[in-house]
Amino acid sequence: MKRIQMVDLKQQYLKIKPEIDTALLNVLDSSVFIGGKQVTDFATNLSEYLGIKHTIPCGNGTDALQIAMMALGLQQGDEVITPSFTYVATTEVIALLKLKPVFVDVDRSTFCIDTAAIKNAITPKTKAIVPVHLYGHAANMEEVMAIAKEHNLFVIEDNAQAIGGDYIFTDGTKKKSGTIGTVGCTSFFPSKNLGCYGDGGAMFTNDDALAGKLKMIANHGQKVRYYHEMVGCNSRLDAMQAAVLNIKLSLLDEYIAARRKAADFYDKAFTGHPKITTPFRAGYCTHVFHQYTLILEDVNRDALHTFLAENAIPSMIYYPVPAHRQKMFEAFGGSDYDLPVTDWLTERVISLPIHTELDEEQQSYIVNKVLEFINK
Ligand SMILES: *Cc1c(COP(=O)(O)O)cnc(C)c1O
Repeated sequence: MKRIQMVDLKQQYLKIKPEIDTALLNVLDSSVFIGGKQVTDFATNLSEYLGIKHTIPCGNGTDALQIAMMALGLQQGDEVITPSFTYVATTEVIALLKLKPVFVDVDRSTFCIDTAAIKNAITPKTKAIVPVHLYGHAANMEEVMAIAKEHNLFVIEDNAQAIGGDYIFTDGTKKKSGTIGTVGCTSFFPSKNLGCYGDGGAMFTNDDALAGKLKMIANHGQKVRYYHEMVGCNSRLDAMQAAVLNIKLSLLDEYIAARRKAADFYDKAFTGHPKITTPFRAGYCTHVFHQYTLILEDVNRDALHTFLAENAIPSMIYYPVPAHRQKMFEAFGGSDYDLPVTDWLTERVISLPIHTELDEEQQSYIVNKVLEFINK
């Protein structure tokens, strides 16, 4: 049996090694390392894949969120509604820009922002909502967009974990996750569903003016070189990463199918177990399984994690401390929040290995070890 990893980037690389190596050597040969055809081609290819007008590449997913908030003109003290049950980047950039993060609870089944909680959190200072499509499952965007429309709020989708997922509206309209809100943000961190071999990120929008602003901010606030209209930053996707992404984008649907197949295998093994809740799949989206996350009840989760590690099976707790309980947010009144679902989930979730190279032999072994511990 191959060694089990949370993500197996090496095996994935070996399958596409000739194409990747050639593409990278071509970048070296051209010596165009920043900008250039690889980057513009990738932006065009990704826009086409997502069915969106503009893709603006940038340095990483965290920058994408930050630049989006800057481009929307959010001002110091403006309130931004975000789940606490997410990766730190989502909430951190809000605070970094001196905006006020307003943490809300998540839905117990989808792990994504609770739309009823959004309504309760809206004040006259609210300017934006940041839904996170956590683990690869979309937030209820139809409701999020309805609330945003009613209260005239921006929606910044954190799509770092769900690129390629479909969202289906009640009227049957289909859109890719990340293309529904005012602006969508994603990360190409190596372990993401569409990952490069370093750092990378992008923003998506259908709004021409906003696209121009996003691009300008990511490039030191300039449209014309050396004429800086506003304070921006330096955030770029480099040519090597774009070359890798151009190849991997053509495989993204295959990669998603492989993840979904692995999730089906786990589901079959765990569904119906009284102590295990398998990942919920809402009818409104296709789950792209960035993570395969179980909820365990009446199980010593941390002892399971250790037991699995002893048996050469990695597992992860995403995330061990929710945003509102981070020291980082003490000054933002983090500890004043009461987010029972977030706390409940934080104590009970565990993510099992899932990636494009996982095989059934590995999965059977994982399933057997999980059940051996839980049924003990
Ligand atoms: C990975 C991730 C980010 C940040 O992406 P980086 O490229 O690491 O900056 C933001 N939000 C979520 C939900 C993520 O998973």
